Amino acid sequence: MFGMSNCAKCGGTLFKVVEQSPYGSNFKLMFVQCSACNVPIGVVNYYDTGAQLVEQKQLIKDFGSRLSNVESMLGRIIRSLQS
Ligand SMILES: [Zn+2]
Repeated sequence: MFGMSNCAKCGGTLFKVVEQSPYGSNFKLMFVQCSACNVPIGVVNYYDTGAQLVEQKQLIKDFGSRLSNVESMLGRIIRSLQS
């Protein structure tokens, strides 16, 4: 069918993502494989870049709110020292 991905070996149109740790590789990869004959048709990073960005943004947000807590705490300390 036009516009559909086909397995080059068996013509299958169903694919699965399988976690693999290739020999000599110190990180995990996700192989996209034909679900019928297991021929790998692509590799994607185990750690999705988009998901990592979301994680980083959350960390920065957490850090920011902690920093403002410290700032308000410092403000209270300074005020109590001045009074
Ligand atoms: Zn196949």
